[in-house]
Amino acid sequence: MSSEEVVRIAQQRGFFFKTAPSYPNTPAGFLDYGPLGVALKARIIELWRRSIVKRDGMIEIDGSQILPRAVFEASGHLSSFTDPFVRCSKCGSVYRPDKLLEEKTGKQVPEKLGDADYDSLMAKAGVRCSKCGSPLAGTTRFNMMFKVGIGPAGEEAYLRPETCQSIFVDFPLLFKTQRVKLPIGMAQVGRSFRNEIAPRQGLVRLRELNQAEVEVFFNPKKTDGPKFEWAKAEVLSFMMPDGKDKNMPVSEAVSSGVVPNMLIGHYLALITAFYEAAGVPREVQRLRVLSDEDKAFYSKAAYDLEVKIGSGWLELVACNYRGDYDLGGHGRVSGTDFTVDDGGEKVLPHVFELSLGVDRSTYVVIELSMKGEGDRRTMALKPYLSPVQACVFPLVNKDGLQEAAQSIVAQLRDDFDVFYDESGSIGRRYARADESGVPVCLTVDYDTLKDSTVTLRDRDTRQQERVPVSEASARLGAVTKFPRLAGPAPKE
Ligand SMILES: [Zn+2]
Repeated sequence: MSSEEVVRIAQQRGFFFKTAPSYPNTPAGFLDYGPLGVALKARIIELWRRSIVKRDGMIEIDGSQILPRAVFEASGHLSSFTDPFVRCSKCGSVYRPDKLLEEKTGKQVPEKLGDADYDSLMAKAGVRCSKCGSPLAGTTRFNMMFKVGIGPAGEEAYLRPETCQSIFVDFPLLFKTQRVKLPIGMAQVGRSFRNEIAPRQGLVRLRELNQAEVEVFFNPKKTDGPKFEWAKAEVLSFMMPDGKDKNMPVSEAVSSGVVPNMLIGHYLALITAFYEAAGVPREVQRLRVLSDEDKAFYSKAAYDLEVKIGSGWLELVACNYRGDYDLGGHGRVSGTDFTVDDGGEKVLPHVFELSLGVDRSTYVVIELSMKGEGDRRTMALKPYLSPVQACVFPLVNKDGLQEAAQSIVAQLRDDFDVFYDESGSIGRRYARADESGVPVCLTVDYDTLKDSTVTLRDRDTRQQERVPVSEASARLGAVTKFPRLAGPAPKE
């Protein structure tokens, strides 16, 4: 199914749509979630929390979205969170040179080229303004952070461009007050803000985005241990910098140097298992091993978890071994001691990060779950991710069937997200439920009034069976239960 089609259905069913749809000139890069999107996003985050945060014994915080200037001085964002851009000398249109080059040449352009490199590549390829055909001015830089002024004096601060900075700056306090030991993961879900130059890819490049980030703090001398044993046999798919695919167990990835150590292998296996549980099969996942040119200068190893969708491979998670870059920088600028005690040794912890894009992941879960053709479509979401867990229908709208159906809704709604629907033919109601990903429909008919049973219909098999009304709650609970995942116990 094309992404346009998926976006159309998602909008029609109330998953997500462009911000301020009543206003035609709303800037690109902003998105509103409708009722079904809110619930789906919340359940994907809940699955992430269960399969990564809780399962690994991490702690979670919720930091402020506005942070003082000094934080971004230390993090390097003030000097280097920039994107290159070129402006048309005639019509003033603004472009990213890498995107223009990709459009013109059909080849991928590294993201980290210098301005002069872009200018010479563009001259060679004869790139001009795509709107008016005029020549473009030379490449310059734009800092993508949104600046805000605090109070009447307008004290300089910024909307965070990534959630992780609060984790880094809170680290010394959390380490002490939460009485944790290395290695420890600290997690956060929240909004980030990036003033992208020309976001055109809808949901893929947003100016206000949702992230779920994990920062694992560890002693670089202690990267093995019983906690990571389970991951050794987990097979991961890598795409090497030379473009070749390699499937191998984590133990082999570590011994061959593709992954620096078992600790990192364990987290790569966890994130892969999370997406599998979210309905993204392993066959369409890969970990793209970033080359030295593609990764940040402080990064010791970096992988992009990518998923294959209709439009190609899409990056969902940046997995990055950041060394001591972050804690070192904040230690220097803040004057706070960021070292901690690890069994008698004073350590400035290293960081491995899993930075997950929630909006992209939600989109991918929707696209990969869409099945069928024409006007008969099913959103085959994992039942524990379905925004509406059951629909309840009266077969006809008379003779007390509506009241009987509503009383079932009343019984179920404390524990489940239930939707009552009495409009249209029963076939039409099933079709709507299928397209919204509802795993179970309960239909009340004349037999319900006699023997207190209902028809339970399964979305994926379309099988129907009679079940006692008294068992509906237990059945629904079994269907929508979150999975138990293999791997480490929450705490050793
Ligand atoms: Zn132009």
